[in-house]
Amino acid sequence: MGLMTKAEYIESLRRMKPTVYMFGEKIENVVDNPRLRAGIEATGATYELAESPEHRDLIVTHSTLTDKPVNRFNKPPESVADLVARVKINRLLGRRVGTCFQRCTGLDCLVALSVTTYDIDRKYDTQYHRRFTDFLKHMQKNDFTANAGVTDVKGDRNLSPKDQADKDVYLHVVEKRDDGIVVRGAKCHQTGSLSAHEIIVLPTRALRKGEEEFAVAFAVPSDTAGIIHVVGRSSLDTREQDGCDCGNQRYSKYAPTVILDNVFVPWERVFLCGEWEFAADLVAYFSAFHRQSHGGCKAGKIDCMVGAALTMMEYNGTQKVSHHKEKVTDMIHRAETLYGCSLAASYEGRRMPSGTYFIDPVLANASKIHEGKEMAEATRLMIDIAGGFVADLPSDRDFDHPAVGPLLKKYLKGVEATPVENRVRMFRLIEKLAMESADTISDIHGGGSPAAHRLTIFRESNNEAKVTAAKRLAGIDE
Ligand code: SF4
Repeated sequence: MGLMTKAEYIESLRRMKPTVYMFGEKIENVVDNPRLRAGIEATGATYELAESPEHRDLIVTHSTLTDKPVNRFNKPPESVADLVARVKINRLLGRRVGTCFQRCTGLDCLVALSVTTYDIDRKYDTQYHRRFTDFLKHMQKNDFTANAGVTDVKGDRNLSPKDQADKDVYLHVVEKRDDGIVVRGAKCHQTGSLSAHEIIVLPTRALRKGEEEFAVAFAVPSDTAGIIHVVGRSSLDTREQDGCDCGNQRYSKYAPTVILDNVFVPWERVFLCGEWEFAADLVAYFSAFHRQSHGGCKAGKIDCMVGAALTMMEYNGTQKVSHHKEKVTDMIHRAETLYGCSLAASYEGRRMPSGTYFIDPVLANASKIHEGKEMAEATRLMIDIAGGFVADLPSDRDFDHPAVGPLLKKYLKGVEATPVENRVRMFRLIEKLAMESADTISDIHGGGSPAAHRLTIFRESNNEAKVTAAKRLAGIDE
């Protein structure tokens, strides 16, 4: 098996048999469910663009492991150029799908594991890096997508994992056997878990001595026995389900809570088991790399928002209104700052002992903090330009109704040259870009909370050099 086409990717998911619940019902056919299919289509774009002559050179690269072409979503970076390419691909895809395409977190896990398993083996003479490399080959050879099982549900935040009344709120090892381990727990906000062939589980936080059972990392197919995906609500989800009033006709994001109810993992798929001091590294590498990723995809999403705002100016007859042009400019500079920060994090990347290249974490986290505030501001500006119908446009079914439809079309017309249907479609798109909760809330909490971003910046910044600079200027010689 080599690189998959988008059609082959969708057929490969069709062969899987995951356990799924949504809206109180068991879903037997994931691929043809309209809500889930819109999410799968978004990930499908990562396969589709890899096939396209225009974008193949950016998305497909060479694997030094298999000596074959590989999609970059399955290749831990081996150079600064690889780090930069990732941001560019994410911007391209963000602009194409206008929402989350869900394939990045798997790469974030591959990167965190490629760095950390090497370090653990050096310290303990374990076999994790060889196992990880075998798994990476499996991902590359099959062109699979992986999902990141990182965020535990966490229970009482005052208590450490081992002190919780129900220890299952942090995923942990419940049994060690000759052939593998059994784990139990739940991972939440699992972006695209059903668009993925594999789930890679990492610890959710730093751990202490005595918390060895929570120090576990592994990979299992997403339809493994005992794994239950419960698809979460998103603000516009039933529109996809009933095929009406969809702002983005093709793509969407969904994020299940994934319960691992006594799941068996063979040793060959275990990449950490008990070495608690490496949990912090895995989380730090995963989250910093994911924050670099956001700078690309969210800049691409703002590109869609700018396009929608400019189109509404045309449809409303406000292209020449100077404060609208200023607002569009303010949207553009926000996208470019996010993008620039993520590119800078990549250009400042460095080689780790395992050979994997890693981004500058301070710049990556600066990009993510910026995103948390500035995506909201870009959204506000887009809505400001578009007008109030973003809030309460009548349904497509009313526009099609023989009694009220013609009246609605008469009163919702903008400039004469634009068909009213186009104006309605653009209002719907703007509503989706602004209010698809599964995606917009990731602007704030994706890759960890804003407090976690700040913590990383303070910890990783070379503050000592800054103090030295200030003291030198003040003539203090201590
Ligand atoms: Fe990728 Fe995260 Fe952006 Fe989704 S939100 S496209 S997973 S970086």
